[in-house]
Amino acid sequence: MGKSITHKIIEKHLVSGEMVAGQEVGLRIDQTLTQDATGTMAWLQFEAIGIGEVRTDLSVSYVDHNTLQMGFRNPDDHRYLRTVAAKSGAVFSPAGTGICHQLHLENFAKPGATLIGSDSHTPTAGGIGSMAMGAGGLSVALAMAGEAYFIPMPKVVKVELTGELTGWAAGKDVILELLRRLTVKGGVGKVFEYAGPGVAALSVPDRATITNMGAELGATTSIFPSDDKTKFFLEKMGRGEDFVELIADADAEYDEVIEINLSELEPLVAQPHMPDQVCKVKELAGKKIDQCAIGSCTNSSYSDLKNTAQILSGKMTPAETDLMISPGSKQVMKMLAREGLIEPLLDAGARLLECSCGPCIGMGGSPVSAGVSVRTFNRNFEGRSGTQDGQVYLASAQTAARLALDGEFTDPATWGPAPERVELPEDVPSIRDLFVFPPADKSAVEILRGPNIVALEDFDKLSDTVEAKVLLKVEDNITTDHILPAGAEITALRSNIPAISQYIFSRVDEGFVGRMKEHGTGVILGGDNYGQGSSREHAALGPRHLGVKAVIVKSLARIHRANLVNFGILPLLLVDPADYDALSEGDDLIIPANAMTPGGTIDITTGSGKSVTVTNDLTKKELEIIQSGGLLNAVREGQA
Ligand code: SF4
Repeated sequence: MGKSITHKIIEKHLVSGEMVAGQEVGLRIDQTLTQDATGTMAWLQFEAIGIGEVRTDLSVSYVDHNTLQMGFRNPDDHRYLRTVAAKSGAVFSPAGTGICHQLHLENFAKPGATLIGSDSHTPTAGGIGSMAMGAGGLSVALAMAGEAYFIPMPKVVKVELTGELTGWAAGKDVILELLRRLTVKGGVGKVFEYAGPGVAALSVPDRATITNMGAELGATTSIFPSDDKTKFFLEKMGRGEDFVELIADADAEYDEVIEINLSELEPLVAQPHMPDQVCKVKELAGKKIDQCAIGSCTNSSYSDLKNTAQILSGKMTPAETDLMISPGSKQVMKMLAREGLIEPLLDAGARLLECSCGPCIGMGGSPVSAGVSVRTFNRNFEGRSGTQDGQVYLASAQTAARLALDGEFTDPATWGPAPERVELPEDVPSIRDLFVFPPADKSAVEILRGPNIVALEDFDKLSDTVEAKVLLKVEDNITTDHILPAGAEITALRSNIPAISQYIFSRVDEGFVGRMKEHGTGVILGGDNYGQGSSREHAALGPRHLGVKAVIVKSLARIHRANLVNFGILPLLLVDPADYDALSEGDDLIIPANAMTPGGTIDITTGSGKSVTVTNDLTKKELEIIQSGGLLNAVREGQA
C-alpha cells in the first residue's frame, strides 16, 4: 500500500509505537519554536530539566505576542528569553522582527521535518511540507531536551483540491469552507493532507494560511506536498538547499477523503463568535463595519499585503472605519517599502502597526463597544479582541481590505475586478542578520532574570481518593481564552503563575478564584470540546495552582488535554453525556483515583448519593504522569 505524506514523515521520525490510528506514537522532533507568552514558562521548564543545551537540529525563541514596554515586565522577560536562548544554543528572534509562524515559514521551516511549537498555530509550517504541531510548553521543553513527542497516531484525511481560485476567492476561503463543513470539532485526531490538481496553483503563503487555520478544526496538523511551488518559495528565501520533494504515493490510502472545488469558492466570512460560523460575505450586505484589521499569522504575508495595497491604492477608507495593518515580518515590511506600497496604505487611512501579533492577542486595536470588526485572523472568540461585546468576523486580506473601503459588508459582485494573484518579487531581501544566533562558546553567557521570572512550583502527587467540590460548571466549546483571557496585562505575567491564576475564568465567573481559595481544591465540569483554542499551558497551570484536581467533561481538545496531563489534573470523560445534567456546581465528589486504569471506568459518587461513571483516554504512561503530580515530577522520577 502506498503512503501518504503524513505516514512518510511519521515513519521516518518514529521512535515508539505503531502507526495504527489512535495508538500512541513517539516522534523524534527536528525543530521547536517558542513564543514569549508561552515560551517563557517553556524555557524555565527546559532549565529545570537540566541538560544544558538544546538537542534538536534547531530551536527558535520568538518574541511576538506581548511586545509592549509599559513597565519592566516585558523588557525583562524578553531579556531572559534572549540570554537563556544564547546559553542553551537556541536562535532568538527579538521583539518586532515578526510573528513566529510567518518568520519560521520564511527562515527555518523545512519540508519533511518535524516541528513542535508552544503555539497552536505551529501547523502554519505545514504549508511548506513540515509536520508541524502545536504543543504545550512542557512538551516543547522536553523536545528541546531531545525527548520524543507523543501523540495518538492521527487519522489522515485527504483534502482533494480541484479547480482553481478565481476572482476574490483566496486561500482563506478554502479553510473557511472546511470549517463551515466540519465545525471546530471536525478535525480532532486527524491530519488534513492536501492533494489533487488544485494544489499546484496555490502559493506557499496561501497554503500556510490554510494549514494555519486547520488548528481551528481541532486537527493534529495540516500539510501540503513539497513541490515546485515549495522549491520556488525556498529559493526566493535564499534556502534552495532546504528543498526536498515530498508527495504522497499515487496509491496512498486515506481514512477519509473530502473534495473542494476551488473554482466554486467565493469570499466567505466567519461570524461571531466561532471560526466555524461561516457564511458568504454577500449574505451580510448592509451591515456596518467599525474596524478592519489585516495581519496575524494567518494573513500577513507579502502577497496578502501587496493585494491590500493594490485594493486601497488611490482610495480612502471612511472616517468611521478604523483600518489597521500588521505585517507578518520585517521581510514583508521591507518588500512593501521597496516597492512603494507603504504609501498607498497610509494614504488610504490605514494605521501601520508593528510586525507582531498585535490586535490578534489583544495587544491594542480593540474595537469600539459592540463594534463590528472584520479581521484576517484565525479566532473570533468572544472577548478575545479586548472588547467584551465586540463582534469579530474573520475573512481574507482581500475581503477585509475591500470591505474597509466600503465601511459595510457589500456583495463581492459589486467589487469590480479582483487584484491579480501575487508572486514573490525577483529579489527578496533577507532579514537573517536580525536573528541572534547562539555563540559557539556559551560559558560566558549569563542568564538574566527580572523579578517577573518566577521559579516553578512543585506539585503534589495525586492522592488515592480525590475529594473535592464541583466549583464551576461550564457549557460546550469552552476555549482557553475563556479559561485564561489574553490581553496585555495578563500575557505580561507569563511565568508568574500565582499572579496569572487570579485571572482564571475571570470573564466567565468572577467568583471562581474566590471559591477555589475558600475550598483549596475543586473540580470543573464541562461540556464538549473543553479547552479548544490556544496551546497556552497557563490554562492548565493556573487551575492547578488554585487546586483544581480534575475536569469532568463530555470531550476535550487535544492540546489542552495534554496540558492537563502534564500538570497532573485528571481529564475525566463522562461515559453518558446526559450525566452532565446530573451533576451541579456545589456537588461534593469522591473520585476513586487509585482505581483508574488506562481507558477504564470508575464511578464517582456525590455527597447526595448520586453516582456517575467516567472514563479516560489516557495511556499507561500518561496515567503515571498524573499520579506523579505532573510531567516534570515524572521526568525527575524517571517515569516518563
Ligand atoms: Fe500571534 Fe494571533 Fe497567530 Fe497566536 S493566532 S500566533 S496571537 S498572530
